[in-house]
Amino acid sequence: MAAICTHLDSIELLQLPEAVAGCQDCLAIGGRWVHLRMCQTCGHIGCDSSPNRHASKHAAASGHPIARSAEPGEDWSWCYLDEVAFLVGADG
Ligand SMILES: [Zn+2]
Ligand SMILES: [Zn+2]
Ligand SMILES: [Zn+2]
Repeated sequence: MAAICTHLDSIELLQLPEAVAGCQDCLAIGGRWVHLRMCQTCGHIGCDSSPNRHASKHAAASGHPIARSAEPGEDWSWCYLDEVAFLVGADG
């Protein structure tokens, strides 16, 4: 695959945790989330496509550029800096 993202060095985590309770920031404030993503640098679970957009806020605040989907059956990653989706470590 072409090197469409130049931030792959920031990836520390590939797999989701066994249990994802939800957006940790929404849980803290009693909010609701729509789509979950996991930061692939530190494991932060945040929402996106929802009013608070905690995943993108985390990326901006922490400088962690890449998050993967934490939705069942989805394994794509997203780079907030390049604004591009791709698969990491896909072996088929
Ligand atoms: Zn990138
Ligand atoms: Zn949230
Ligand atoms: Zn992070």
